[in-house]
Amino acid sequence: MILDREIYFPFPFHKRVYLFIKKFFYILVRFLGRPTWGRPKAGVKLNIEKQDLVLLVDEEGKLRCKTCRSCVEICPTQCLELSSRAEKETPQSFNFKPLDCMYCSLCEEVCPESAIAMISSSNTSGSYDQTWIRDLNYLGFREELNEGKGLSLEELKELRK
Ligand code: SF4
Ligand code: SF4
Repeated sequence: MILDREIYFPFPFHKRVYLFIKKFFYILVRFLGRPTWGRPKAGVKLNIEKQDLVLLVDEEGKLRCKTCRSCVEICPTQCLELSSRAEKETPQSFNFKPLDCMYCSLCEEVCPESAIAMISSSNTSGSYDQTWIRDLNYLGFREELNEGKGLSLEELKELRK
C-alpha cells in the first residue's frame, strides 16, 4: 500500500503527507487512462524527453546511489528497476523506461542520497516500436554528462541556476 512504506519515515510529517498526495494523484491520473505524458501513438515518429533522468556521482566519480530502492517503491508507473550485489552498495544494474515515466520527480524527492535527478535533455529521436530502456551507463555516464564522467550534485545545482 501507499502509506505504509518505510520510505516515508525519514521525512517530517508534512513532507510525508505531501509525498502521499502527490503519489496518489499520479496513480489516479494513470488509472484514469493517461499512463504517461511521453508515450507516443503507434507509428508516430517522436521527439521525446525534454527531460531525462540522471544518476549523480560523488567527488570520486562513483555513483551516489546506495540501492535503497525508495525510488523504485514510490514510482507510480514502475518504470525503474535496479539490482545490486549487496545492500547499500552501488547498483549493478539500473534501468529506466522513459516512455512510462510521468516526470513527476517523486524518485528525486524521496532519494536519501540525492543520487537521482531529472534534468533537461536534448531531444532524442526514436520510433514507437523502439525498445526504450535507459541502462546504468546511460543514466550515470552518458557522453553529455561531463564527457562521460558523470554529473555531481554541485554541477547539477549549477545546471539548474
Ligand atoms: S519521475 Fe521518477 S518517480 Fe516519476 S514516473 Fe518518472 S521515474 Fe517514476
Ligand atoms: S537512486 Fe536514491 S532512492 Fe533510488 S535506490 Fe539509489 S539511493 Fe535509493
